[in-house]
Amino acid sequence: MSGEHRPMEEFDRNAKAALADGELRAALRKATIQFGERRTKALAELGADEWQALRARGRAIKDFALANLDTLLERFVANACAAGARVHWARDAAEACTLVATIAAAAGARTVVKAKSMTSEEVRLNAHLEHVGLEPVETDLGEWIVQLAREVPSHIIVPAIHRSKDSIATLFAEHVGTEPGADVDALTAAARRTLRARFLEAELGVSGVNFAVAETGSILVLENEGNARLTTSLPRVHVALMGIEKVIPSLADLATFLRLLPRAGTGQRLTSYQSLLTGPGARDGGEGPAELHLVILDNGRSRMLARAITRQSLACIRCGACLNVCPIYQNVGGHAYGSVYPGPIGAVITPQLAGRGRAAQLPFASTLCGACREVCPVAIDIPGLLLALRQEIVDGSEPAGSPFAGQPRPRRGLERLAFRLWSFVVRGRRRFEFATRCARLVQRWFLAEGRLRRGPLALKAWTDGRDLRPLAKRSFRAQWAQGLDRGQGDSR
Ligand code: SF4
Repeated sequence: MSGEHRPMEEFDRNAKAALADGELRAALRKATIQFGERRTKALAELGADEWQALRARGRAIKDFALANLDTLLERFVANACAAGARVHWARDAAEACTLVATIAAAAGARTVVKAKSMTSEEVRLNAHLEHVGLEPVETDLGEWIVQLAREVPSHIIVPAIHRSKDSIATLFAEHVGTEPGADVDALTAAARRTLRARFLEAELGVSGVNFAVAETGSILVLENEGNARLTTSLPRVHVALMGIEKVIPSLADLATFLRLLPRAGTGQRLTSYQSLLTGPGARDGGEGPAELHLVILDNGRSRMLARAITRQSLACIRCGACLNVCPIYQNVGGHAYGSVYPGPIGAVITPQLAGRGRAAQLPFASTLCGACREVCPVAIDIPGLLLALRQEIVDGSEPAGSPFAGQPRPRRGLERLAFRLWSFVVRGRRRFEFATRCARLVQRWFLAEGRLRRGPLALKAWTDGRDLRPLAKRSFRAQWAQGLDRGQGDSR
């Protein structure tokens, strides 16, 4: 499956294409398993009680910040300006892009180096900068890979997770001149050589913001490669793009998030580079940029904040852990969602940002298994939010002001009939037993090598992409009655 931008309206079709792509699924499996193992190890070091206490503290800080966002933003802006930063407000993506382009023009910039920033992806900043004749250069290795390939990121923290090492070697051979079979060290060295030169010629650096501290007017940028530090210190002008929800009250609060975020996201104790910036570095004769511009973006966040049910999605610290454990994401990857925010949290945020008309399928792209809620470092109830969004979509129960209000309802007659039938069957024991006996008889025609290889009727769409375990020969109740505890049960 190509990594270019996919329409979010066609999640079903995108997912089918992804399921048929063996290389993509192998790359996803390898990466998500590795992240899961690292996370488990990092959490074990801390101990379950301390981890849960950290999560609760992180969530409480975020809840307080969101409940007091107006006053905290005012305080942050006042302190940032006192430290010499210039603050700009952007209502939407278009305003944010125009602001950055205007700052770039005033700086006389031609080349713009960029550190990894999901907010810049959200507003499609690169496309706008190219449109006005500037050259944006991604400097995070994963972002640079997807930029070279003219793709979009497929993970919040690992943009090129969908690519194998061999496909990256082929890409570098074409664009950077490395050997076609170059190893990881050679590829990394080539990227470093090429990007160093771009840093030196750039007049403007653009970064995101992980946390903005109201108490001091500081911003924190986290990364593992050192490129964000160069982006925020080498060019004469630095623009930091942040959503309004990034503000936290005090420097002391950072201690909680600095422990939560890397452990949940990459399984690290600490992120390798932590740049805490207060005003432009060159102020008062110091080193660093002469100008620091903060572009503070709303783009639908106030609307999410206004509703108690969706407010908690603004607590997300973009660690990516929920993507790594999601059985849907693990199989279809990020591009299928057609949004810069894929996976479970993307399925929550995207319909609120883009509207149900375009993203109506995304809240249904979940098994509601709850793994995302278990791993989330700020304990966001993602399955609960997905259910609430589904209900709004199906019932058309959107309150006034919701992005879904007044939009057309999806066709749901067949689905409703199927659930009514299912509900009728499972509410009566005899009915349920009769139905499973019938299903056992029918499934014989569809078994191959002990698995359901081709499902009947509508189930075919399911079995085309997966193996299904057949129903057991006897129900659990029957096995139990006949002596399961004496080892006479069967597994099928
Ligand atoms: S919802 Fe939670 S787990 Fe998912 S990216 Fe946000 S903070 Fe991480």
